[in-house]
Amino acid sequence: MSKNYDLIVIGGGSGGVRAARMAATYGAKVAIIEEYRYGGTCVIRGCVPKKLFVYASRFPELFELSSDFGFDVSAKFNWSTLLANKNREISRLEELYVKTLKNWKVDIFRDKGIIEGANEVRLKRENKILKGKYILIATGAKPFKPNIKGAEYGITSNEALDFKHLPKRLLIEGGGYIAVEFASIFLGLGVDVCLAYRRDLVLRNFDNHIRVTLEKSLLAKGLDLHYQASIIRLEKNDAAIDVYFSNGEKDKFDAVMFATGRVPNIEGLGLGNAGIAKNSNGAIEVDDYGQTMCPSIYAVGDVTGKVQLTPVAIREGAAFAENLFNNNPIKVDYSLIPTAIFTEPEIGTIGLSEERAVEIYKNIEIYIANFRPMINTLGENDEKMLLKLITRKNGGRVLGCHIVGHGAGEMIQLIAIPMGMGATKADFDRAIAVHPTAAEELVTFKAPSYIYENGKKLS
Ligand code: NDP
Repeated sequence: MSKNYDLIVIGGGSGGVRAARMAATYGAKVAIIEEYRYGGTCVIRGCVPKKLFVYASRFPELFELSSDFGFDVSAKFNWSTLLANKNREISRLEELYVKTLKNWKVDIFRDKGIIEGANEVRLKRENKILKGKYILIATGAKPFKPNIKGAEYGITSNEALDFKHLPKRLLIEGGGYIAVEFASIFLGLGVDVCLAYRRDLVLRNFDNHIRVTLEKSLLAKGLDLHYQASIIRLEKNDAAIDVYFSNGEKDKFDAVMFATGRVPNIEGLGLGNAGIAKNSNGAIEVDDYGQTMCPSIYAVGDVTGKVQLTPVAIREGAAFAENLFNNNPIKVDYSLIPTAIFTEPEIGTIGLSEERAVEIYKNIEIYIANFRPMINTLGENDEKMLLKLITRKNGGRVLGCHIVGHGAGEMIQLIAIPMGMGATKADFDRAIAVHPTAAEELVTFKAPSYIYENGKKLS
């Protein structure tokens, strides 16, 4: 038996659910298929549980700081309580996702969807065919583990979000978002964390000031950082794992976590049955509207390998629904994407790094504020905050903004608005400061800290 839909969505994460819901609001008859849990990576094993853990990891430092403000706090941490509360919250969010879909009369399937042709998807468990005018692939990405001996003894962020007991010694491999965020979380929770990265400085491609500032803070908090080091072999040794590194070192850890990137989730999807092409990274090739090589099949989110961020997948899902079900073709603009890295200290960033800006524009101005935030001024904590603006010369257009410190994620969200409107340094200067805040630095910069002329740095 088969059933006809206007749209069949495969994947119940951020992009898929947004597309399904919006298409349904425009009157489409929609089916959505998810093989694991509704909510996808972001809700179930990514942004949401991660951020809850980030909050937890920040308490010990706050307890310490509180003594400078006259408090005498003695605190005990219970991992099982955090885990149970986190699980309850993601279940609540999952239910909300499902409820919203039901409210819009979307047919919900808990199964694996396999593409059988341009307009057909088979439900694997039910072995039933659904027919659709359009199919949307929104299956996301999954963690990648390097192909080394013993890789099976290592975990990924998926499992680290559900540790039964906190490890005493944790090794994380990688230097990207997930590596630094999880290193920061587990450091904050009192775990002895070692980070191994194959290059020289974490967060490649980010502004150098951010990278150096974060590195300094993580080291001060006790991170055992090893550069030019990759894991080449893991061996299970009773309860511990013996780790062999590319630099000849050997060590022992309770847990080893790979944060070595994420790959598109396309296994067993049946892409070949509809002639859908992949690029060299295994991601589904799509045009500016998310259309694959098969005209009735589209893809959004991490599975397209464009930008692996939840809000981007949501925007792509919305654009897809606008295009096909509201006769409103929208191309997603990828040029100015704000992003936060939830380390401690937090990072918020948008636009060009200093290094990229000088490469492109040659003549730029750099404004930097680097100071001890007010909350640290009563005690010994000398961690600094960094706010940095990169503009074209003579106070022209703002090209980049990079912040390290408390509230950086919140600030960068708001900075994305004027930057998207093409704001100049003069526009920033016109804003009246909010005092005393850290963000006021962004609107009170006088002279540049230094400038570049014809690509050459001048002070
Ligand atoms: P990233 O691509 O950010 O980082 C992967 C890291 O692993 C890099 O440092 C990379 O090194 C290293 N690496 C890759 N392959 C190997 C290998 N074979 N051996 C050793 N090291 C390796 O991926 P993440 O897993 O950190 O995150 C995935 C995506 O999820 C990110 O791109 C991000 O968009 C998203 N994300 C966003 C968050 C947020 O918005 N706060 C939070 C978490 C994830 P090299 O630098 O040399 O390439």
